[in-house]
Amino acid sequence: MVHRTVQKRRRAALASIGVGVAGLLLVALTGCGGSDDTASVKASGRPSDGAVTGPGPAKPTPAAKPDTPGADSAVLAAKWNLKPFAPPPAPPAVKPIKAGGAKPPVVEKIPTQEKIVFITIDDGAEKAPEFLDMMRDLRIPVSMFLNDTYVRQDPEYFRKLQALGATVQNHTLSHPDLKTLSADAQKHQICGQQDRLAEIYGKRPTLFRPPYGNWNATTQTVAGGCGGIDAIVKWQESMQINDMQYVGEKKLHPGDIILAHFRGPSELKGTTMTEMFGNMLRKIQAQGYTIARLEDYIG
Ligand SMILES: [Zn+2]
Repeated sequence: MVHRTVQKRRRAALASIGVGVAGLLLVALTGCGGSDDTASVKASGRPSDGAVTGPGPAKPTPAAKPDTPGADSAVLAAKWNLKPFAPPPAPPAVKPIKAGGAKPPVVEKIPTQEKIVFITIDDGAEKAPEFLDMMRDLRIPVSMFLNDTYVRQDPEYFRKLQALGATVQNHTLSHPDLKTLSADAQKHQICGQQDRLAEIYGKRPTLFRPPYGNWNATTQTVAGGCGGIDAIVKWQESMQINDMQYVGEKKLHPGDIILAHFRGPSELKGTTMTEMFGNMLRKIQAQGYTIARLEDYIG
């Protein structure tokens, strides 16, 4: 009888451990953004204030070897409630999109079989210092399509991102709808920003994105004449606050180009740039994709 009671207790204890483990697993699964439930993704998607600004772990020192993947990258990604991204495949020996010369091609996605997507961030309005920390920690390739309107407010901000590996690309001087402009006005907007960005960042942009995705035959001719523009780049998915807007079926495809913006709480209903960006990255990870560099596939 005594023996039986002990066994019973032991079983009960084991059962409760089982429930505990199952509960933990459930939390872990939903916490990784595997669910489409925006509320749970958003709730778990926020790095705690402590992780970002609080006393928490000391800031990584310059000796923290940011270029060395491995345990460090897992810790750094965890700061943002992310898993580390798998390194992208080696860039193709021959770029699948050829530079267009006098008539740059309009690119909406990259032809590839690999589970990779490309991140583009537009405009440049929000300049959150925390986003610099995020990019320093994650080291993922992003292409920034910038307007002079926003760059001139703080060129150093984008120089810091450039130093972390982000590329600077052209999005016109002041974000007009190019379809409404004369050839001369389009030239001013596109070639003017091409020259400005080259002057500030030391390199001529190789990609151009028309504001609102609006372009016409004049845009192509003008962009081809500015010097240095290999392609006009549009997009497939567009990141909102918590959710991605997909073209057609609601999932990513190999080679998709994703559009995000430098936006902060005033444009994102209180959500910060890093929260929005984290939401996007978790959606990419949940679908088994990693991030590659757009410029490695065009030119
Ligand atoms: Zn824009």
